[in-house]
Amino acid sequence: MQAEGSNRIMDNIIELQDIRKTYRMGDMAVPVLKGVTLTVARGELVALMGASGSGKSTLMNILGCLDRFDSGSYRLDNQEMSHLSADQRAMVRNTKLGFVFQSFNLLPRTSALDNVAMPLTYSAGHLSEREARQRAAAMLTRVGLEARMDHEPSRLSGGQQQRVAIARALISRPPLLLADEPTGNLDSRTSAEVLAMFQELNGKEGITIIMVTHDPHVAGYAQRTIHIRDGLIVDDEDDDRQAQDLEAVPCKAP
Ligand code: ADP
Ligand code: MG
Repeated sequence: MQAEGSNRIMDNIIELQDIRKTYRMGDMAVPVLKGVTLTVARGELVALMGASGSGKSTLMNILGCLDRFDSGSYRLDNQEMSHLSADQRAMVRNTKLGFVFQSFNLLPRTSALDNVAMPLTYSAGHLSEREARQRAAAMLTRVGLEARMDHEPSRLSGGQQQRVAIARALISRPPLLLADEPTGNLDSRTSAEVLAMFQELNGKEGITIIMVTHDPHVAGYAQRTIHIRDGLIVDDEDDDRQAQDLEAVPCKAP
């Protein structure tokens, strides 16, 4: 698969081959993904960029097993996703995936602790409620919210709410974190905090992260930026690969 002759040993967490997706609205067919082929190695921190309407969220929803695709192959953690039942996809979501959304999507009138512990109540049946809450407390401490555990979302700032959402996404210890415009509702200082947290989770714990953004500054936190346009991957820049290319071909434009 690695046509460029990379000598890195590849352990791909994601392998997409010719993924297509068309939405149908009445008689109208809206092709959104037109043959996406892509691999992401375990441990990468990737930014996915593209104009509004280019298919970023559609692709993320497929990667996250929230939505189905029409054709093509999606292997997640070496397991083919194309023929899974809804229950099987739910199981994959609970064990392999964490999600962070632009709008945080926390439960209102529910403490930060209970928001974070929530996924454990249906994914890890062997945990007692006390253990689940202990694990949630540890996760909130890791994201710097040990003093806010009993706060409901309405009493937290946007950045704090997003950190609760990150803690919730990671409570089941998934290998892959998907974030769709995670800093879209945050000011630049809070965005920087969230992005630094992603870098730390990626660097220290090896969690693979894919984040959607339309902000080049946000994408700068990633090691690799994939550009999608009109349902196709049009450009894929790996920082290392690009550095090597620049060395080999000094006149190549960046
Ligand atoms: P992005 O996240 O890059 O802004 P989306 O993946 O949300 O783009 O949308 C890509 C295209 O698919 C848009 O033209 C959008 O209107 C269309 N689309 C997205 N979701 C649906 C849906 N559930 N039904 C019909 N069309 C949709
Ligand atoms: Mg979107």
